Order: sequence, then C-alpha cells, then structure tokens
Amino acid sequence: MSDVALEVRSLSRTYGKRAAVADLDLTVRVGDVYGFLGPNGAGKTTAMRCILGLIRRDAGTVRLFGQADLVAARRHVGAIIETPSFHGWLTGHANLMLAAAYAGLTGTAARDEVTRVLARVGLAERGTDRAGTYSLGMKQRLGIARALLGRPKLLMLDEPTNGLDPRGMREMRELIRSLALHDGITVFVSSHLLAEVQAIGNRVGIIQGGRLRAEGKVAELLSGSAERIVEVGASDAAALGAVLEGRDDLEVVGAGSHGRTRVRLGDGLDAAALNRVLVQAGIAVEALVPETRSLEDVFLEVTT
Ligand code: ATP
Repeated sequence: MSDVALEVRSLSRTYGKRAAVADLDLTVRVGDVYGFLGPNGAGKTTAMRCILGLIRRDAGTVRLFGQADLVAARRHVGAIIETPSFHGWLTGHANLMLAAAYAGLTGTAARDEVTRVLARVGLAERGTDRAGTYSLGMKQRLGIARALLGRPKLLMLDEPTNGLDPRGMREMRELIRSLALHDGITVFVSSHLLAEVQAIGNRVGIIQGGRLRAEGKVAELLSGSAERIVEVGASDAAALGAVLEGRDDLEVVGAGSHGRTRVRLGDGLDAAALNRVLVQAGIAVEALVPETRSLEDVFLEVTT
C-alpha cells in the first residue's frame, strides 16, 4: 500500500472563464492531518469536489492510496463537503441507518456499525433524538459519523468548524485529532482559519486563487525561510542602540514589545553570538527573545 494517501497533480477546474482551481498539486501522506488552508473563494471546496468525483475536473490527475482507479479507491474515503444535510424528522440513528443502506449494509451489521459510529463521535446518548433538534456541532458530528460508516482510511472534511461556537470548535478539533491518533485515519481538512490549521494539522497546503502557494510540515513552514529577528532589551537603551548601530552584521528594524529593540541578524550572527557581543560591550542585557513566525506570517508571505 502506498504511503501517499492523496496525490493531486496539475488539477484544474474552471467555471465559465473563471479558474476556480488552477494547476494544483497536493501530496497528503498516510497518517497526516493535512490542513488545506485558504481564504474564502480560494478554491478549496472545488478542489475537494474534484478529488471526490462530485464534479468533473478539466485537467490533472488524482491518485488515492496510489490508485488511479478512483471509483474503487474512493471506497476508502469518507467526506463531508459543506454542511451535511439530514432528514430533520428522522432520528440521528435512522439517518445513519439510511446511509448504511446506501452503503450496502443491512440488518445487524448496519445496526452495529451505526451504533459504533454514533458512539465514536460522542452521540450515543442522542442517537434516538430527531436530527432536526441537533445543534450545528451535533449535526457536524453526525456528518462525521456518516462519513465513518465505510471505515474510511482517509477523511476529507470541508470547513468542519464553520459556524461552530468555541466549544463546538474545540470538540471538533479533538474528534479530528483522536480519529487520526486512535483510529489511524488520515485526515484532509480545509479551513480558512489559520489558528485552526495550526492547532490540528501536521502538514499544510496553502491555496489562494486556485493555486497552491506553499505546502509542507507546519514546523518547517514556521521555521523555513524565517527572517532571523530577535528582540533585545537592556536597562540602558541608548547604550544598546549605540552598540547595535555600530555593527554591520545586523540591522535595527524598529521597536519591539516591552521597550525592546527589534534586530534582524545577518548571516554570520546568531542570538547567542549577539549576546556575547553586547555583554563584552558592557551592555546589561535583560532580554534576548527570538521572534517566532506564526502560520499567519507564512500565509501573508505566500499570498501577497
Ligand atoms: P469558501 O471558503 O468560501 O467555501 P473555497 O475556497 O471553498 O471558498 P470555492 O467554493 O471552491 O472556494 O470557490 C472558488 C471559486 O469558484 C470562487 O470564485 C467561486 O465563486 C467560484 N465557484 C465555486 N462554485 C461555483 C459554481 N458552481 N459556479 C460558478 N462559480 C463557482
């Protein structure tokens, strides 16, 4: 079995003259929680629909678990695209029994499977309530339960926290993490929320204007081409300024937090070396704090 769960190459889809997805490449490895990040209208839903075969693609290839035969391979994929819809007058359990029947499960096998997935998403107690009475968070979880019916190896979730309150968002994040960790399911989750993706994804693809702008491990993107900026605090700011201004292996780039000075380090200088320089120059260094990049910084860098 391939260790790549999803491989997309040169995927394109236009609506009329508008390119919703253009020449998109994605690689999702088995075991990833892959955050598919992009602003509204970036092309996330369109790309996911193409991958799932819900709409046709104009160009490009898609492989699932190494297979180009997508009809067969999609059996290993569970998905929620946009808000899942259910029959409001039927119970959560009955809705899932219907879905199980569509999936070819009947009788005890269907009942057992429905009981299992309801419990898995934390809805065991509420399965006998009508789906119409569910909160949005519960509907999303019921959607995940439905997607879990075929025991997928890959779950594709389109903005699963959209519209949820903070508690619902946290529950959804925890459920996604747990499905990856305990059930070994590879997860592809789209979001326009950076914090969200940073919190749950180990790898990220950033899409804008239908094109992939960056892809990689979150940790690597965060360190990546990071500008090396440190904030330096000293009791005598004027003396610090004089020492810093006199050097050509760094650049003072403005004021930092807590009255500190922001310094961009040149190639030959790291924070420890700068500290030595300052101490030798008689500066009482109170703080030397490397600035870390957030995914937001990376996002802004690659999308502007
Ligand atoms: P959102 O976060 O708002 O759901 P998205 O990243 O999922 O956005 P898409 O829904 O894929 O983006 O939309 C990409 C582009 O394609 C947008 O410009 C959108 O207006 C356009 N688009 C999407 N669906 C259609 C359609 N059925 N007909 C015409 N244009 C469409």
